[in-house]
Amino acid sequence: MLVRTAPKDTDKPVSDTDARMNSTDSSMTENDNSMTENDNSMTVNDNSMTATTPRVRFAPSPTGYLHVGGLRTALYNALFARRYGGTLVLRIEDTDRSRYVEGAAENLATALAWAGIDFDEGPGIGGDHGPYVQSERAAMYAGHVTRLLDEGKAYHCFCTPEELDASRQRQIAAKRDAAYDRRCRSLSEADVRARLEAGHPYTVRLKVPLAGQLQLRDLIRGDITVFHDAIDDQVLMKSDGFPTYHLANVVDDHLMGITHVIRGEEWLPSTPKHVLLYEFFGWETPQFAHLPLLLNADRSKLSKRQGDVAVEDFRAKGILPEALVNFVALLGWNPGDDRELFTFDELAAAFSLDRVSKAGAVFDMEKLRWFNAQYLRALPADALTTLCAPWMREAGFDTADQARTETVAATFANYISLPSEIGAFIGFLVHDTVSLDNDTQRAAVTSEDGQRVLARFAERAAGLDAWERDGIKAMVKQVQQDTGVKGKGLFMPLRLAHSGEEHGPDLGIVCELLGREACLTRIHACLE
Ligand code: GLU
Repeated sequence: MLVRTAPKDTDKPVSDTDARMNSTDSSMTENDNSMTENDNSMTVNDNSMTATTPRVRFAPSPTGYLHVGGLRTALYNALFARRYGGTLVLRIEDTDRSRYVEGAAENLATALAWAGIDFDEGPGIGGDHGPYVQSERAAMYAGHVTRLLDEGKAYHCFCTPEELDASRQRQIAAKRDAAYDRRCRSLSEADVRARLEAGHPYTVRLKVPLAGQLQLRDLIRGDITVFHDAIDDQVLMKSDGFPTYHLANVVDDHLMGITHVIRGEEWLPSTPKHVLLYEFFGWETPQFAHLPLLLNADRSKLSKRQGDVAVEDFRAKGILPEALVNFVALLGWNPGDDRELFTFDELAAAFSLDRVSKAGAVFDMEKLRWFNAQYLRALPADALTTLCAPWMREAGFDTADQARTETVAATFANYISLPSEIGAFIGFLVHDTVSLDNDTQRAAVTSEDGQRVLARFAERAAGLDAWERDGIKAMVKQVQQDTGVKGKGLFMPLRLAHSGEEHGPDLGIVCELLGREACLTRIHACLE
């Protein structure tokens, strides 16, 4: 399929007064259907791996936090690198100074390290292709811009923010897409020189061919054809001398030897500009793989408005890194069988881009909680206790006795998805009395059978040698024989008397945790 793509303005200023500093991030707002794909798309598979060892990168812009979609991108890059014995690079894309957030790069590094994403090269790690922070690479971009200007593949644009805005309004009024109207493209050389000498502020724009088309091949989305006239004359260098994302991204991917660009689908509309830049520079284009969007349950784009999206938020909630990674790995990729639980190494062994879907992946918080529950249960008792102890204390439980605290945490791990939830289960260990919620519960305790069971239990309990779970369980069996009451009739009054709950962990453990005296006090309270 070969369809003309709609021209899009990816050059919108960040603010009205800021047209010259326009940021590339506005490309995030571009419409998904600005491109069409070939349905007989080729997919990547292991054969698509060339002889060269892959070099991939995660290239976040430090906006203040790590979005869970960013974590997915970082993860897929990491898995791809591990799977094929390649190299994973971290590059900080911080050329948009208007969006600079103090400490954001450090936050990113912390969140990535917490999630267990290990980079081979990057800021603070080193490598042969540094510096790995774009704001430290200004000279490299300037040289490349000069080269494009010299070769007639880029041009100076002196339009003021007001002029750009007015032009955009005219385009919109004429029901045309609000791409730059290219007026500076036809300035004479002398005119340009005069303005430069007079110190007029300028940006540098990409001189997109006016006719023809380009092909781009996406390993997930297949072959895509884009007509040149659908591509805006993208700003490459802003009036502050900083490169835009597009230029810096392409120059760096080339200089850093990146073989595969694996990134979110929101960058797909920018890719034709990147392909053009590779062509203009005469560089080999890396392979592209654009990952499907993450969606809210209502299939809108995953947004903060509908819940947590920052890795830091999940961490603060008590989501374990292994659970988050496992969950995120399956947002857009599947192993081809029904396995769900994967360690990082297992993911790396199974991962391939040909099992990444084109369709958006719904972020299901319930599923994440399920993964977390699995990983919580699998934790060693001391690690589990470290996570749960603050919440146990908050519920009034005294955690001074480490062994007892560990037993309680391990006992209730099966009932919780988040450490914070443990508080709701241990109230009976904290309070001296239990209260029954409803008549059915009260009836179970006050019924004739219930009273007989409780009385017999109390008698036997007083004489039991050691107060521990197995002995207590054996004793309950004897109470059954003594009274002839079994099943629900036996267990319900005992459970309710001890914990005030109809369900819960093994009765032997509940009694052991409470201690003999507390058990007897509770039973007697129910007998009165
Ligand atoms: N800096 C871009 C971002 O924040 C990187 C996009 C890309 O990987 O090319 O997502």
